[in-house]
Amino acid sequence: NVRVRFAPSPTGPLHIGGVRTALFNYLFAKKHNGTFVLRIEDTDQNRYVEGAEQYIIDALNWCGMPFDEGPNKNEKFGPYRQSERKHLYKQYADGLIASGNAYYAFDTSENLDFHRKDHEAKGKTFIYNWHNRLKLSNSLSLSAEETQTKLDAGDDFVIRFKSPQDETLHLKDIIRGDIKIDTNILDDKVLFKSDGMPTYHLANIVDDHLMEITHVIRGEEWLPSLALHYQLYKAFGWEAPEFAHLPLILKPTGKGKLSKRDGDKLGFPVFPLKWTDPKTKDVSRGYKEDGYFADAMVNFLAFLGWNPGTEQEIFSLEELIKAFDLNKVNKSGARFDPDKTKWFNHHYMQEQNNDALAEAFKNSHQKLADIDVNYIAMVVDLIKERATFVSDFWDLSHFFFTAPTSYDEKASKKAFKEGTKDILEQIASIAKNIEDFTVENLQTEIKGWITSNEIGFGKVMMPLRLALVGALQGPDVFDIMYMIGKEETVKRVQKATE
Ligand code: GLU
Repeated sequence: NVRVRFAPSPTGPLHIGGVRTALFNYLFAKKHNGTFVLRIEDTDQNRYVEGAEQYIIDALNWCGMPFDEGPNKNEKFGPYRQSERKHLYKQYADGLIASGNAYYAFDTSENLDFHRKDHEAKGKTFIYNWHNRLKLSNSLSLSAEETQTKLDAGDDFVIRFKSPQDETLHLKDIIRGDIKIDTNILDDKVLFKSDGMPTYHLANIVDDHLMEITHVIRGEEWLPSLALHYQLYKAFGWEAPEFAHLPLILKPTGKGKLSKRDGDKLGFPVFPLKWTDPKTKDVSRGYKEDGYFADAMVNFLAFLGWNPGTEQEIFSLEELIKAFDLNKVNKSGARFDPDKTKWFNHHYMQEQNNDALAEAFKNSHQKLADIDVNYIAMVVDLIKERATFVSDFWDLSHFFFTAPTSYDEKASKKAFKEGTKDILEQIASIAKNIEDFTVENLQTEIKGWITSNEIGFGKVMMPLRLALVGALQGPDVFDIMYMIGKEETVKRVQKATE
């Protein structure tokens, strides 16, 4: 029974790297009929940011990947916020001390700094491990009485993991294969602090165990922690889950990791939803508010590090679930391409329901307030093949709603020639005489007139388009005439003859 978790820290808005991690967890869970758990890792109260948890939940919901278990939802293994599980962790740290896998350390930060600098001066790196720990202040270097005295006196302490000397660890990662680590390069990581809070490492392992997580899928930045996590499972005598570390997401240039700050610098959002910083009130753009469809975002995120091994690029969430395979995730970094995100959005634009698009378009533009939404939906149907975002609609369609007030200068030179005035007058009268003003009738009448008078097609259609649109752009001229109706068509064509 597959159980995976997405375990963000609520330190701010989730960036697209985080959403990609959530997505891969979600896809893997659904593919195996498993459970997708949301766990909020908020043990570091200094970094807690108001509203971040709700943002994370909103983002998951917007993407269409709601969690199965998490805060206030199917709390079988709850609570799912680590701050609410605080009381749980100390006993596990104590257990590790009792079994000889961890120890108390009382070193002040000044003392540790001193050792770091001292090592640096000799061209060495200070590692808090077997090599140095006996020179420092901890329950391995002090007698049992000395240790107890310090604890009784309420001295600040941390509990450190006792990393072994001269061992080789054999780690396994689904994406990276076998990894060998020499324990001599590892330091004795802090697991617990005297403020009563566990560190990420302890809380994360204890919770993954208690929540019966079978697969840990997370970003590559956690790979260096894998050795410790393996050792913790061993020390507790627990079976470790399987691990998969997802590749980095790189800047569009391919150089360096895409960062939260790149969005503003490079002109595209790096967050799924808009975010207002509660302290500074700074606003960061979101994909949703920038006009991206959730399906498009999910689709482009899936391709950051994964590909199906075929030419297919368009995948619905359902199709992704079917096709997804952790073994097809790459080791190397995935370059983020903002142009490609637009390409996906353009594709998904074509699949959107016209009524929903019309509603969004109407709400986005003042001049549409009084226009029938059904009419707007018909317009949308004619123009959306040229649009990437709803915000493109007005430029592509204003002439369906308002008559042109001027004609594009270059286009006028091209379209309005000698004889054009007569032609447009003829067209106006043909239009006026069409009883049933349909696209078919317009086509038959106008094309018929052009053919029987042996006039070049462009000589008629270009000025006609200019009269209707104001520029030489837009969908089919007959569609436009039909949409704006007889009266408006005649009016615009006549105006162009003046
Ligand atoms: N809280 C960690 C984070 O913010 C979780 C890492 C993990 O999945 O183990 O990414």
